[in-house]
Amino acid sequence: MYGCQHSRNLRRKQQKLSRKQKGSSTRDKAKRLVARVHSKIKRVREDFLHKLSRKIVDKNQVIAVENLNVKGMVRNHCLAKAISDAGWGMFGTMLQYKAEKLGKIYIEIDRFFPSSKTCNNCLHKVSEMPLNVRHWDCPKCHGRNDRDINAAKNIRDEALRFLRLDVRRFPPHISETKQALGTSAAASGGNVSQPGKISVLSDAIPLEAGSPPHTGTPVEGG
Ligand SMILES: [Zn+2]
Repeated sequence: MYGCQHSRNLRRKQQKLSRKQKGSSTRDKAKRLVARVHSKIKRVREDFLHKLSRKIVDKNQVIAVENLNVKGMVRNHCLAKAISDAGWGMFGTMLQYKAEKLGKIYIEIDRFFPSSKTCNNCLHKVSEMPLNVRHWDCPKCHGRNDRDINAAKNIRDEALRFLRLDVRRFPPHISETKQALGTSAAASGGNVSQPGKISVLSDAIPLEAGSPPHTGTPVEGG
């Protein structure tokens, strides 16, 4: 598990290094110590992301993630730091190749999809959703939304929508496909401000298929 003690250790060693005189042998030594902490952090972090992605892929048939987006995914400070520092991309790559190896589906949802601003209950879209808002009450259905869980459900639903809409043509990455589908959804009477979601859901998805299993974790899809 990635721990804050590594960050503290790094900071301490960097401070020590900054106090050493240029060209001195103690500076060289301090430099090596900083490098060692860096590589330790890298190993611990990658190990953690490997284990987490393994767990997610083993437990799910479809894994949907928002690409290049770490906004409030995890409130745990150290974990958030691990993911943002190591790069969301690396985590996505791990999820993807592990999923493909097991014949499971990995989907990236375009980061411009309004996952945080859309109420998963009634699909009402609010205009603003500042990052510091952790819970919000939907002005339309008056339901209370946890920011992360609501966004995760929207990402899951969006992914499942693509799977149902375009099973045969389904490519591993759907960002471009999403653009195309969004356009056709709007053309077939969808509300443009809520990219195709309402009309496509009600037009294309039979009711009994509309209740995917609950996974409860932000990055997992049914
Ligand atoms: Zn609502």
